[in-house]
Amino acid sequence: MADFESDALEREMTVWRRDLHAHPEFGFEEKRTAAFVAAKLREFGLDDVTEGVGGTGVVGTLRRGSGNRAIALRADMDALRITEQSDAPYRSGNPGIMHACGHDGHTTMLLGAAKLLAGEGGFDGTVRFIFQPAEEWGRGALAMLDDGLMQRFPFDEIFGLHNMPGLPVGHFETRSGPVMSAEDNFEIVLKGLGGHAARPHAGNETLVAACALVTNLQTIVSRRLSPADISVVSVTELITDGTRNALPGLARILGDARSFRPEVSAEIERQMRIIAEGTAAAYNVTAEVKYSREFVPLRNDAELVDAAFAAARGVFEPGNIAVAHEPMTASEDFARFLDHVPGCFVFLGNGEASAPLHNSSYDFNDDGLLFGTNFHVAVVRQRLEAGR
Ligand SMILES: [Zn+2]
Ligand SMILES: [Zn+2]
Repeated sequence: MADFESDALEREMTVWRRDLHAHPEFGFEEKRTAAFVAAKLREFGLDDVTEGVGGTGVVGTLRRGSGNRAIALRADMDALRITEQSDAPYRSGNPGIMHACGHDGHTTMLLGAAKLLAGEGGFDGTVRFIFQPAEEWGRGALAMLDDGLMQRFPFDEIFGLHNMPGLPVGHFETRSGPVMSAEDNFEIVLKGLGGHAARPHAGNETLVAACALVTNLQTIVSRRLSPADISVVSVTELITDGTRNALPGLARILGDARSFRPEVSAEIERQMRIIAEGTAAAYNVTAEVKYSREFVPLRNDAELVDAAFAAARGVFEPGNIAVAHEPMTASEDFARFLDHVPGCFVFLGNGEASAPLHNSSYDFNDDGLLFGTNFHVAVVRQRLEAGR
């Protein structure tokens, strides 16, 4: 593609991205965003555009040649319940909601790829453009799968990307095997007998027990799991019904656990139940543990990682392509698709000066738009090579 054409596409995509940024929508409420996406895909002349897949999801299909292989490219559309701190003219117009994870950029880059591939082709087979809702909830991918995504829009493999603050724009990273963790949530409720602050011996209050339990939970990772397995157990909230001069009879401990293998997640839950019950018994209170699995671990397929690196070599400077050193203990709903087909998830730089993801000052860096679009296009041409 000639440079003036890519300049024009970059300008056009910047307009789309800022429009999406100004109109952020929370998970499963992405009505305007989905309508925007579907209208663009129809304008580009895709063979099929289906809305309402798994709630507000959109799937576009583009066919070229006679190849019977299909590849899926996925973007996420949802925003977060965070109040944006920004002076940008395109700042959020929806109070309390903002694109703090760059899904406006991901959606725009995939739209750019759809436009390029619909206009220029250069592949043989079927491309599915998947725009999923509710990534941040960890519910949108499952909603699309439960709505028959694999049966109605079958594909053999899937690729996705996420911007990464701190990594310079124009830089590319991924790795084989574990990339992002599972996320589990837990809630432990301790119940005892509260009472007068001056007479602790007359009841069995729950605050001291809760403090001991919070400390004992620290031994799950440090003493009960193999050091070879990366995992995190974080207590994030401790709430009681006590007041200034009354001891609590109830304490709630909430938190979050990360791991990379289902066996490790299961062991964290098992150890948590042992510790909660044992600690509660020692303090003469009762414990009830609720443990839920919100995100599954994301593992990249080795062959598709090789393909992604090969595609990246046509888009990024050689010195800007790197193997990510270690998996991240953040989680991604993309992992749900990998229960059905092999896939590869990659990271693109959002700039060293970028605010962190989920920060109220975060903004997607428009200088990275063409890199993401060209990577999507290169992957399609690599995996559905014309004349193969
Ligand atoms: Zn996010
Ligand atoms: Zn995100």
